[in-house]
Amino acid sequence: MSNSKTIFCKGCWQQMRMPIPIRGPLSIPLRLAGIKRSQMNPNLCTICETNFTKVKKKKQVVISATILFADLRGYTSLSERTERSEVLKLLQNFYDECASAIWERDGIVNKFIGDAVLAIFNFPILQEDHVRQAVLAGLEIQKKWMERKNQAVTTTEGRDFSVGIGVGIHTGHASIGEVGTAYKDFTIIGPVVNLASRIQSAAGLGEIVVTEAVYRQVEDLFPQAELRTYQLKGIEEPVNGYLLR
Ligand SMILES: [Zn+2]
Repeated sequence: MSNSKTIFCKGCWQQMRMPIPIRGPLSIPLRLAGIKRSQMNPNLCTICETNFTKVKKKKQVVISATILFADLRGYTSLSERTERSEVLKLLQNFYDECASAIWERDGIVNKFIGDAVLAIFNFPILQEDHVRQAVLAGLEIQKKWMERKNQAVTTTEGRDFSVGIGVGIHTGHASIGEVGTAYKDFTIIGPVVNLASRIQSAAGLGEIVVTEAVYRQVEDLFPQAELRTYQLKGIEEPVNGYLLR
């Protein structure tokens, strides 16, 4: 599947029926007015980021979304023992692989947080099968990373150190919009986001762990998935997770 570059912003069109040109000659006057392609997804515009809630005349909007967290395992201990340039190269590769897999499935990379990525599916590009798209993006991230020949990094002690990615996915309703007053940040918040983050921390190197809500929608693709019960930080009740195989 190839996600071609669109002339109009996919998000503005789907959400508001507004044709906002982001490529080609029609986009020039808009670019001059400060409306550009979004860094969260190159098929979206900056209205889809900070201005979206203003257009909707609300500070926050509640959406149904799938949240994917991915992080680079072993990064912290590695960064203490490796040349800075090596670490930066590794991080850049990680960001690139994650972003291309997420964009290919019409998700947005909401944030890069140090050695982790937060992606949102079903906003602002609506997808009936956003759960499935997020899972497929997660698989792609793991597959691409395994295929990389330079996964191993040589530390300053001359030891090869292998790093891998852990992926966690959850779905439900969350609130998206601007958070903060002095420093405005466009982000998604709510218990669904917290659980996605927690389930991600339970995933081991090279693993994708999803919640029950996610698994129910991709069961047909992963009949061999392994049910595990996790005691997650900050969550009292044990949580069921499925390790996708
Ligand atoms: Zn837009």
